[in-house]
Amino acid sequence: MTRRSGATTEAASFEDRGWHAWDVDEALAALRSDWSGLTTEEARRRLGTDGPNVLPEEPPVPAWRRFARQFANLLIYVLLAAAALTATFGDWIETGVILAVVLLNAVIGYVQEGRAEAALASLRDMLALDATVLRDGRRREIPAAELVRGDVVVLEPGDKVPADVRVVAAHDLRVEEAALTGESVPIDKHREAVADDAALGDRRSMAFSGTTVAAGAGRGLVVATGQDTEVGRIGQMVARVTTLRTPFLEMIDRFSRTLAYVITGASAALFAFGVLVRGYPANEAFLMVIGLAVAAIPEGLPAIITITLALGVQRMARRQAIVRRLPAVETLGSVTTICTDKTGTLTRNEMTVRAVRTADATFSVEGEGYDPHGAVTREGEPDVDVDDPDLRFLARIGALCSVAEFRTDEHGGRALSGDPTEGAVLTLAHKLGVDQEHLDAVPRLDLLPFESARGYAASLIADEDGPRIAVKGAPERVLDRCSHVRTAFGDAVLERERWEHVLDDLASQAYRVLAVATKAVPAGTDRLRHADVASGLTLLGVLALMDPPRQGVKEALAACHRAGIRVLMITGDHARTAGAIASQLGLRGPDDGAVLAGPELEEMDDEALDEAVLRHTVFARSSPEHKLRILQALQRHGEVAAMTGDGVNDAPALKRADVGIAMGLKGSEAAKDASEMVLGDDDFTTITQAVAEGRTTYDNLKKAILFILPTNGAEALVVTAGILAAVTALPITTVQILWVNMVTAVTLALALAFEPAESDVMARPPRARNAPILSRYLVGRIAYVSVLLGGATLLAYFLALQRGFDVNYARTLAVNVLVAGEVVYMVNVRVLTGSALLGGRLLANPAALASVAVLVVVQAVFTYAPPFQRWFGTAPLGAGAWAWVAVAGLALFAVVEIEKVVTQRLQARRATR
Ligand code: ADP
Ligand code: MG
Repeated sequence: MTRRSGATTEAASFEDRGWHAWDVDEALAALRSDWSGLTTEEARRRLGTDGPNVLPEEPPVPAWRRFARQFANLLIYVLLAAAALTATFGDWIETGVILAVVLLNAVIGYVQEGRAEAALASLRDMLALDATVLRDGRRREIPAAELVRGDVVVLEPGDKVPADVRVVAAHDLRVEEAALTGESVPIDKHREAVADDAALGDRRSMAFSGTTVAAGAGRGLVVATGQDTEVGRIGQMVARVTTLRTPFLEMIDRFSRTLAYVITGASAALFAFGVLVRGYPANEAFLMVIGLAVAAIPEGLPAIITITLALGVQRMARRQAIVRRLPAVETLGSVTTICTDKTGTLTRNEMTVRAVRTADATFSVEGEGYDPHGAVTREGEPDVDVDDPDLRFLARIGALCSVAEFRTDEHGGRALSGDPTEGAVLTLAHKLGVDQEHLDAVPRLDLLPFESARGYAASLIADEDGPRIAVKGAPERVLDRCSHVRTAFGDAVLERERWEHVLDDLASQAYRVLAVATKAVPAGTDRLRHADVASGLTLLGVLALMDPPRQGVKEALAACHRAGIRVLMITGDHARTAGAIASQLGLRGPDDGAVLAGPELEEMDDEALDEAVLRHTVFARSSPEHKLRILQALQRHGEVAAMTGDGVNDAPALKRADVGIAMGLKGSEAAKDASEMVLGDDDFTTITQAVAEGRTTYDNLKKAILFILPTNGAEALVVTAGILAAVTALPITTVQILWVNMVTAVTLALALAFEPAESDVMARPPRARNAPILSRYLVGRIAYVSVLLGGATLLAYFLALQRGFDVNYARTLAVNVLVAGEVVYMVNVRVLTGSALLGGRLLANPAALASVAVLVVVQAVFTYAPPFQRWFGTAPLGAGAWAWVAVAGLALFAVVEIEKVVTQRLQARRATR
């Protein structure tokens, strides 16, 4: 692989050694970078010369091959055989029409497939990778595609390594390299150079593009991007589109294929019957049975199903629910339980410190969100801005063990990069006059970043009076480690009980509570281990944070309940905080069980937990393992569970869930990889909308099947009846059947894919997991509609003949009756069980109206245009004939509507009895 020229040519002369064998300082110098990363300007310049950090895309399947694929289908073979046969009889018009229809069919399939794939391809862009990088000395999130050599990237648990990097700082950094080496045990990484001849898996001073940070923290110097990375070298490419395969689609494919074989078999039998029993000439009989095959095979079905699914996916994406694996579209519709995080999903995740408690006083804090302005006053003295050195020290220590940063965004506003909990702590510090400049001036020697499982964050700082440890975290965790508490008169022994009381009080007011503590350590200390913070800390005070609920969540939760979906809250927060928010949101009613806290859950065996998941709706102080256990308990009850998650440790639960849902904004790449769906806005209401869309899509799939099958049923009936009745000419010719199938598939059936949600989608219970797509009731409807539609068509044909019209006229009438029947039946089908006329439903889908208009025009051309009369053997109908068509259509419409209403009444009566 050739090195690129430009900014980094110096590096080229060192190519005798791999980057893993370089010392950190050497590597930084060679790429003309340093600890604070590149400047924005330099990065832009390098991007210009080096090109973007992306892997080449897989070449698209060539158009001709996609087109050719449309012909690989049993029905097409049957038709081609028919064309060959008609050609040998010299029946050129017929041959031409069959071939034209075959071609058109392929074009339609090709266009629809292209649309469906485009819908999915746009999803990939929505899931593009981001990287945290130091630019101008500040943390910044940028698209990973904009990384260049010399950039310094921040590596945190759950991150995908965005390029090949030389590890320049590492703290317990472990990277899972399965994507590259197949080794699934995370590998320890460090900054020390390794031997030049080390194998890929032993290059512990490197982290490679596409691998995942499993634990710890670190920084990496980008040494190779795009195609020059190790994954790039092994020729990995970006897959173009998620494949359009789902279990359901496969079932439909199998169904249509089986049906095609059965029909071909039946046709052969009929052929034999026609020739041997009825004495038809072989060639005539052959054309008739081909007519049967064409009539009965629902060739349009798989294409319609595909496009319906793709449109569903697209609608969800428009609502910020990005589907990563297509089957999720179907599963979403049957979800019975949603397990959701609290912070950021139900709440806004914009934390603000509202109060501070120290040993001596309570302070209240004003101001909105992350705005650094707001008065801080002592309780009882509301008009005096406090100037309290202990309070300032507390805020400063809290800020110094935070890794989040504020930066100025494009609009000149303050944007947070990092954890909102830390954003709140920083904002408090700013309000108290501890500004960013001051914080930056304090050297940070080492860091233990926050991990849910540990419940605290700590850092080692070089303070004016010597090194000290700064700690903040969940109060119980921090109090466990404190022996003393800071007071105005010096450090005093910590009275645990008194503080427990304070915490309970704050938590029950829905505050998220954070304790801040510190400990001086001997001069010369430059490493921090978890053991160093295990005991002997001095508590400085606790912070009460408020995170207001998101807008619309309360309504969304109510909608879930109406839709028969249970919602469980699983949070790392304190039991009381969680309980208070849950009550505010109406998630936990007065009758719901108490909040189940992590430690209690830990005590339970699976049996006890099975029972507990039915009683409790709020799970607090939960770890990712608890999530997994709760999920498994739910699944043992047969629940179809959706589960949200963001951290790297959530991956097992997300994978195991029926629908794993990762947070798009705050979620880690590891979580996204493990999930079926990603929320672009982290918002709970989006989940509810996705469920509604899932149900709608499933309804639309049903509607497509319910619509298409009677068409084939009716046509098959007409042809079979014709043959059995030993008519000399079929009531509808083969090419006419082809015509009907084609024009109705691209107008009426396609329009059903655009059908909006029925009014009751979120007012009925979830669909049972193993319920067949069509209930016996709907299968019954398919059967009787087939008979009615076929019967009307036959009746029209024979009545016309009886009145002395010629065969062409009778056939044209029959075809138009059939098409009219399908038009009205499409309107029937648009509402599965209720009346199609009520609730403004008739005009709700513009695509349906447009499709009918198009079909009317197309049928007029078919009937009156002389070339079409020649090709399809049609004859111009008189006004009287159209009256028959209208009457037949209206009658069919009325029958189906009445049937729906009667069935509903009967069902309602049965239910009340
Ligand atoms: P969740 O985000 O679901 O509320 P977490 O596990 O992230 O759960 O947080 C649990 C507790 O850990 C919080 O209540 C808070 O006290 C503490 N905490 C959260 N984030 C941080 C952080 N960045 N630094 C220190 N402590 C934190
Ligand atoms: Mg959190």
